[in-house]
Amino acid sequence: MANRPNILVTGTPGTGKTSTCELIAKAAEMTHVNIGDLVKEKGLHDGWDEDLDCYVIDEDLVVDELEDIMQQGGNIVDYHGCSFFPERWFNRVVVLQTENSILFDRLVARGYSEKKRKNNIECEIFQVILEEARSSYREDIVVAMQSDSIEDITKNVSEISEWLRNF
Ligand code: ADP
Ligand code: MN
Repeated sequence: MANRPNILVTGTPGTGKTSTCELIAKAAEMTHVNIGDLVKEKGLHDGWDEDLDCYVIDEDLVVDELEDIMQQGGNIVDYHGCSFFPERWFNRVVVLQTENSILFDRLVARGYSEKKRKNNIECEIFQVILEEARSSYREDIVVAMQSDSIEDITKNVSEISEWLRNF
């Protein structure tokens, strides 16, 4: 086992994963692994899903691509799903959550279609990602954090940095 931990930051699109991970990467010298960007850059997908309006991620290729750096530790991984990663990779799984009307406005600002907004708002209302995290990882490593405001981001970044210092 590596001495430096790996953290997964997950949550519905728009909850603030990338903003949060960028700040933690800077504050705590972690490597930010943005899975969406990696999939695009390295072509780790099986084409475009017209219906869901996103790439069809090739989970096996992503796991193979990351195995070495995950074993080294010190990564903060950013993705809106969590069940296909090997459980052993992560020492902490943070699930970001955002109040519906706030999330809605962020998805509008992002130019998401009505259908894509609806999918994501439902995902948030039914706490799909939190359930996925709780069924994929040990309960005591999964933490939910509210991400409605800039103050929330500051608080979450400092809590995660504190956890890293104590690891
Ligand atoms: P994700 O990576 O989860 O899709 P982003 O970090 O890209 O989310 O954030 C989406 C948008 O919402 C960005 O414009 C970001 O600045 C804003 N945002 C995210 N989290 C917060 C927050 N807690 N408070 C205010 N704005 C936020
Ligand atoms: Mn993102």
